[in-house]
Amino acid sequence: MSEFSLIARHFSRHQATNDIAISVGDDCAVVDVPVGQQLVICTDTMVANRHYPSDTPAHAIGHKAVAVNLSDLSAMGATPHSITLALSLPSYDEAWVADFADGLYQICDRYGVKLIGGDTTYAPTTTISVTAVGYIPKHQSITRRGAMVGDVICVSGHIGSASFALSQILQNQPSQLRDKLDYPEPQVALGQALRGYAHSMIDISDGLGQDLGHILAASGVGARLDLDKIPCHTLLEHLPFAQKYQHIINGGDDYQLCFTMNKEKFDQFQANFPHFSIHAIGEIVADGGVQLFEHGQAVAFDIKGFEHF
Ligand code: ADP
Ligand code: MG
Repeated sequence: MSEFSLIARHFSRHQATNDIAISVGDDCAVVDVPVGQQLVICTDTMVANRHYPSDTPAHAIGHKAVAVNLSDLSAMGATPHSITLALSLPSYDEAWVADFADGLYQICDRYGVKLIGGDTTYAPTTTISVTAVGYIPKHQSITRRGAMVGDVICVSGHIGSASFALSQILQNQPSQLRDKLDYPEPQVALGQALRGYAHSMIDISDGLGQDLGHILAASGVGARLDLDKIPCHTLLEHLPFAQKYQHIINGGDDYQLCFTMNKEKFDQFQANFPHFSIHAIGEIVADGGVQLFEHGQAVAFDIKGFEHF
């Protein structure tokens, strides 16, 4: 199988359309940028055994490689448009690549995102790098820098599920929450809905504690977090304290959004968008890092998210 027939067979489903003048097949893709919008660009790499357990189905890997990037775009409030895929494989396994491509195209098609280019190479370890491009109306991106004292700190969905699933899998136990780890759903619609509401935002990839810490550092503020208000799956509810908050505060891979907004905007947002599951979990304060409380009592807990080196 040559590199070219592999691309033709598996990664050429999205041909040129309206705003994509050139898709897969030339030296570069060529894309129109809508008037009045800015490009929003991100890249995320997944390495076998580091970013997913070795028994993860190829279909899930294809899904997740796209999902983590759409999550980054969502965390800026952007509308996803297209992706490129740099795929490095130790060998050509037809069934694996076909399943991977199915997983990748399924999530792309769900969000109207096109695969418009990439690169395919040999490498000793499967490595998947996706670059995603989105658009946002000029000056509306929601950054990590905008948190203000008095803002409500919010999260979407359940926190800690993916980390709990991973811990079960690593102990060779079956996990009811395996899909939360393998098939994270990027909060694409929520991210865009928060334009004009949220002061700051980040997606939770490395742990709520660490990722909120990035907002605090960038904004020069601190936070009070009410642990008991952080939404989690019922399977996590009755775990011992240390274990429970290890997943909720330090566990990664949920790809939910963490954002801040002032109290009036929070009430307005909930009234205007009642279908989104968002929860207030604390408040931005002047300084002091992340201070944790449970039922109003200060508690000590070591915040330590995922780090590569
Ligand atoms: P070049 O030699 O210019 O880098 P390649 O031979 O690597 O071109 O790629 C040929 C075409 O196929 C290009 O349009 C490239 O974007 C696309 N392509 C390569 N690998 C992939 C992939 N894994 N997924 C999607 N498109 C790909
Ligand atoms: Mg190339």
